[in-house]
Amino acid sequence: MGTPSRGPALTPNVEAATAPTAPFLRLTTLWIQITGTWCNLRCTHCINASGPADPWLPSMDARSIRHAIREAETLGVKEIYFTGGEPFLHPEILPLLKDSLAVAPTSVLTNGTRIDVRMAAALARLAGEAAYSLASASASTMWMSNGTTAFEAGAPGGTRSERSSSSRPEGSSPL
Ligand code: SF4
Repeated sequence: MGTPSRGPALTPNVEAATAPTAPFLRLTTLWIQITGTWCNLRCTHCINASGPADPWLPSMDARSIRHAIREAETLGVKEIYFTGGEPFLHPEILPLLKDSLAVAPTSVLTNGTRIDVRMAAALARLAGEAAYSLASASASTMWMSNGTTAFEAGAPGGTRSERSSSSRPEGSSPL
C-alpha cells in the first residue's frame, strides 16, 4: 500500500456534474431551525450543542422563514416543524406560527421553559389546541451541564422554583 494521498479533502466530482437531474416537485415535510443553535439551556445530551452563549448557528430572520414556508406551500408541504435551539426565543415566534399554521399543521420542538400562562393562552388561541410532550418522565434524565435539570428550570410539569433570575441556569435568558 502506498502513502495516503495528501490532496485536498474535497476534490471535484466530475461524474456528479454530468449526472442526470430531476426536478424538485414535492416537499412533504419542512423543518426550520428558526433559532439556529441559540437556546436558554445547555443540556449535556443536546445533539447540536445548542446553548445560550455564541451559538455556532445563528437565528433565522423572519423574512427567510416566511420565504421557506411559502416555497414549501407551493411544493405541497403537509407538515412543518420549528426547531432550534429553543424556538420560543425567536422574537416573532407567534406571528411566524400563525403564518405556518395557515399553510400546514405545525409542531414546535421546545424545552417548554418559555411557555408561561400568557404564552400558553396565546398558543391555544392560535392553534385551537396545544400538546406538550416530554422527552423523559423523569427529571433525573434531563440534565443540563450546570447540574440542574430542564424540570428545575421551569419546564411545564416540573418545579418552577428556579424561575427567579437569581437561580436560573447560568447564562440563560430571563423567562
Ligand atoms: S433544551 Fe434542547 S436545544 Fe436546548 S440545550 Fe437542551 S437539548 Fe439542546
